[in-house]
Amino acid sequence: MSFEKLGLIKPLLDAIGESGYSEPTNIQNRAIPLVLQKYDIFATAQTGTGKTAAFALPLLQRLRKTAPEARKLRALVIAPTRELCVQIHDDFETYGKYMGLHIDLIVSGKDINTQRKRLKSGVDIVIATPGRILELAESGLSLNDIEIFVLDEADRMLDMGFVKEIRKIHPLLPKRHQTLLFSATYSEKVRRLSKLILTKPAFIESAKKNSTVDTINQIAYRVDEDKKAALTSYLIGSRNYPQVLVFTRTKTSADALVAELLKDGLKAGVIHGDKTKANRLKTLDQFREGKLRVLVATDIASRGLDIEELPYVINYELPSVPEDYVHRVGRTGRAGREGEAITLIDIYEKYDIKDIERVIGKKIPKETVAGFEPDPTIRREDREEVKLKSEHKKPEEKRFKKSTKKAPTQKKRKTTKRG
Ligand code: AMP
Repeated sequence: MSFEKLGLIKPLLDAIGESGYSEPTNIQNRAIPLVLQKYDIFATAQTGTGKTAAFALPLLQRLRKTAPEARKLRALVIAPTRELCVQIHDDFETYGKYMGLHIDLIVSGKDINTQRKRLKSGVDIVIATPGRILELAESGLSLNDIEIFVLDEADRMLDMGFVKEIRKIHPLLPKRHQTLLFSATYSEKVRRLSKLILTKPAFIESAKKNSTVDTINQIAYRVDEDKKAALTSYLIGSRNYPQVLVFTRTKTSADALVAELLKDGLKAGVIHGDKTKANRLKTLDQFREGKLRVLVATDIASRGLDIEELPYVINYELPSVPEDYVHRVGRTGRAGREGEAITLIDIYEKYDIKDIERVIGKKIPKETVAGFEPDPTIRREDREEVKLKSEHKKPEEKRFKKSTKKAPTQKKRKTTKRG
């Protein structure tokens, strides 16, 4: 199927051509005609499937008959993180460059009065984080003319506790509007939300439930916790990885790892919830421009990243939630390209990786790297205790809002080493 056959208009086809896309991805083939026919959509799609264009292109087309003098807010896209909003906004600007529509980015952390003024001056489409758009709507911004409401990464928004905001935004929209819900996973929470906000939706499942993209080669290396940083440097250096994205579970370990990598002479940067938005975007840009070879990120930052042709991902620590593994490795193997996801597991993470394997529905091969074999004298005390520890590990995003809480340090876990 070609983009023309999907019924897209010339200004969009021209922009797509300039983006270098030769044919639509699976989700684009399925979603574009349905959105153009004004269906509500419930789509499970991971980052890397082309899902942003799957809603952006038909949305832009639906809004094409806007007279500049009658500009009003007709489409609202909400997404969990500022970074993701920035990327969605960039994509809208790219695809919509010949459409003459005003597309604005309304995220927290920016001056609200400036945003209010911009919105008053006439905007067709807003890409926003849920909290900020609700704040604006509760202080006078009308959502009465919204024709299309998009929730991107709905599962992540719910995980981050945005359900209250979504429940408050929804009644502010006019009775008749089209809703497009995109979620990487099909969880009970998302299903409940869909019942509330969707009317007779068309279901699109672009990837197998919670499955990882097939083109990604996944492998886990067993290694002791205190050798993980050295192994990370070794893998990047010895295998000559041009660029790699490394995920940690906590901000503390992200910072500690970057310090080690820098000591090893690798150009590395870090993004996590304690960094300012400007700092995160700057680091991301440096990585995109190739000035950084390694980008270390926590899960909070992981969802929004859109970095093209990234062949390697290293999971330095397992995520707190198994589903996040899917999102992490979704950074690689994009749009059919091959990718490699390496996971480093210490003895404490043995059970957590089983949870991940259950979620992705396949076994991840486990090996060791010569010179980094785990010390056989290190034992877990017992399974219950280890389980308990992993339950107490808090994901970074939860601490993100209450940043006064300290991240658990790695040292604590070393007490179980026996001689
Ligand atoms: P997304 O899943 O929206 O995060 O998109 C993943 C990546 O695929 C982005 O870098 C897009 O620019 C790219 N992309 C989207 N649609 C296509 C397409 N039809 N052909 C090739 N690349 C695409």
